[in-house]
Amino acid sequence: ILHPGAHVGAGVEIGTAQIIKGLNEVLTAETDCCIALETMAGKGSEIGRTFEELKMIYDGVHRKDRLRVCFDTCHVNDAGYDLVNDYDGVFRKFDEIAVFHINDSLNLLGAHKDRHANIGAGTIGFDPLYKVVHDERFLDVPKILETPWLCAEGETKKTIPPYKEEIARLLR
Ligand code: FE
Ligand code: ZN
Repeated sequence: ILHPGAHVGAGVEIGTAQIIKGLNEVLTAETDCCIALETMAGKGSEIGRTFEELKMIYDGVHRKDRLRVCFDTCHVNDAGYDLVNDYDGVFRKFDEIAVFHINDSLNLLGAHKDRHANIGAGTIGFDPLYKVVHDERFLDVPKILETPWLCAEGETKKTIPPYKEEIARLLR
C-alpha cells in the first residue's frame, strides 16, 4: 500500500506522469505482488485526492492486474467524499477495493488535511465506519486501523494503543 505521491508544484499532469513512470518501472512481468494506491486527502499537492486522479494513474500503468486501491476513510472524508450523508453515492464510484484503512477524521468534509481520529471521535463518526466494516460487499476485504494512540490520564505522551477496544466496538 502506498500514497501515490505529490506533484510539489509541477502540476497534476506532470506529477501523474511521473507516478505512472515509477509504477511501470517496478511492476514488471516478473512482479509477483500487488501495489495498492491509497485514496488521498489532498493535503498540499498530493495526487489521488479524487477517484478520477487514481483512475488516471491506473490508465497509464501497463500491469493493471497488479494495481489495487486502498480506501482510507479519513482521507476520503478530507478529500470531500461524504460518507455520512452519501454513503452509497461514494461507493457507487468504485468498482473494486482491495483493502481499507478504517479511520475517523479530525477534520471537516473536504478540508484537505489528513489527520486521523479515533473511531467515533471524529467528523465521520461511529455509524458510517461501522457500516463499512459490516458492509456485505466488503466482508472479504482486509481492514486496517490507523487510529492514533491515546494518552494516559494526566499524561501528554501517547502511550496507549486503542486497537483492542476499537476493534471490539466495531465488531459488536
Ligand atoms: Fe491510510
Ligand atoms: Zn492519513
